[in-house]
Amino acid sequence: MPLQFHQFAYNSDNYGVLVHDPATGKTACVDAGEAGAVFEALKKTGWTLSDLWITHHHWDHTDGLAEVKSKTGCHVTGPEGIKGIDAVVKGSDSFEFAGHRVELIHTPGHTLDMLNFYLPGAGTVFTGDTLFVMGCGRLFEGDGPMMWASLQKLMALPPETVIYCAHEYTLASAAFALSIDPGNAALQAKVDRVKAMRASDVPTVPTDLATELATNPFLRPADKDIRAGLGMVDATDAEVFTEIRTRKDQF
Ligand SMILES: [Zn+2]
Repeated sequence: MPLQFHQFAYNSDNYGVLVHDPATGKTACVDAGEAGAVFEALKKTGWTLSDLWITHHHWDHTDGLAEVKSKTGCHVTGPEGIKGIDAVVKGSDSFEFAGHRVELIHTPGHTLDMLNFYLPGAGTVFTGDTLFVMGCGRLFEGDGPMMWASLQKLMALPPETVIYCAHEYTLASAAFALSIDPGNAALQAKVDRVKAMRASDVPTVPTDLATELATNPFLRPADKDIRAGLGMVDATDAEVFTEIRTRKDQF
């Protein structure tokens, strides 16, 4: 039986996701920024939490960890250095969740400890604060070449992969993307779609890799028109990516 997903909002713009295996009744939650929001999502779905997967150490992903763990007894998997983790994992590790394979992808850049959880059987990846809809995470702990190397790991997944990210930053990312890639018809169409979604208070997450490859400027430093617009025709992809990331910080 396929896994079921339930996304829920918390704080001003965060998303968490419950991952449920109907055959065993096991349920994992991706990140625990706010315990109350996790409990509300569990109540709404009627699912019982068995596992918690932490992407990185930032407060809006971990503040609820202790309370969620103490009230549910869930098993916590995540990167080294975070209090309350039962199973410390790193990139290229994998584990089984209710018979489904979960592969860890280390994507440093936003933070050094960032882990993305990839479920190949479900064709789904949880990208934390690494890859957003038409955007990518701010570089708090890493640099441009490091983040570009991380994003390339995600770009190598099958194009139909469904991407859950941890923030609803889409409208701001869309405005910036248009400034970098104004002639991109796929981007223009995507921006129209997400504007309509947000006007109706519909989440723009999840997205999928094929759409991001076509519209997300942070995945497109090789694009001729983007390079020409930046005056970086002969630069490396990492250099173009770094310039785009710098411009986003100033946008
Ligand atoms: Zn973060």
